[in-house]
Amino acid sequence: MPSPLQDLRDERLERRGVHLRLKRDDLISSEVPGNKWRKLRHNLQAAREQGCTRLLTFGGAYSNHIRATAAAGRRRGFDTVGVIRGEEHLPLNDSLAFAAGCGMTLTYLDRTTYRRKTEPAVVAALVRQFGPSYVLPEGGSNGLAVRGTAELVGEITTEFDVICCATGTGGTLAGIAAGLSGPKQALGFAVLNGAQYLDAEVRRLQQEAFGTATANWTVDFGFSFGGYAKRTTVLDDFVLDFGERHGVTLDRVYEAKMMYGIFARAEAGDFPPGTRIIAVLS
Ligand SMILES: *Cc1c(COP(=O)(O)O)cnc(C)c1O
Repeated sequence: MPSPLQDLRDERLERRGVHLRLKRDDLISSEVPGNKWRKLRHNLQAAREQGCTRLLTFGGAYSNHIRATAAAGRRRGFDTVGVIRGEEHLPLNDSLAFAAGCGMTLTYLDRTTYRRKTEPAVVAALVRQFGPSYVLPEGGSNGLAVRGTAELVGEITTEFDVICCATGTGGTLAGIAAGLSGPKQALGFAVLNGAQYLDAEVRRLQQEAFGTATANWTVDFGFSFGGYAKRTTVLDDFVLDFGERHGVTLDRVYEAKMMYGIFARAEAGDFPPGTRIIAVLS
């Protein structure tokens, strides 16, 4: 860090007078997305200050946050426990094999119990089983995570009007928006279906991090393409074409949906000519 900014010249945007730059947080690490490091940084510090040597967290079987916690634990000398939604499937998929390879202990919760994972009784049972732990929420988004993602904005030295990110749990958007000054706006593209709860969740996360919420952000729910990790030919074709034009392979679960949304909204004339956009790739 700081991750580089990259100009993206594309005739479809230039026709609309839209300037796009990529904030390449995906280059921070080859193993895990950059925003996951940013979200973990202050949490690891807090865990250390509290004398905790073990991180315990939650995620689906393909969770980037599980991978990131496992990698950060290995690198920084924490034991890690990953509580995975659903049953164990062997052999482990690539994500979980990576986590286990980092030394993470994997344990599984049936879907009903997993839904109750934030209840004190469920957390207490896990802590009894695995020992005292610093507990991170699913996706890693909490107040300290939001403080970490807010730092991304301070790395940008060029002028811009709108900053975009893909939105899962909302921690990245909450931080980026809180880090902005003046009339700049943050725009998140929801990757899950029916994610309208994000409007309240992003506010809650900003409040937890900074004691106040900002009004300079919106979530676009129109580009989730059927839901989390869903693929369509339209999206696949967009990723292939984008790769050929720009030499950047977009992550299909998150960044492809954001980028598709930016192009679609530019072509629909949603951004006034002259708008300078930064798109965060994590
Ligand atoms: C986790 C993740 C996001 C979304 O971050 P949230 O803070 O959960 O909204 C975006 N892009 C990538 C690549 C991710 O791994």
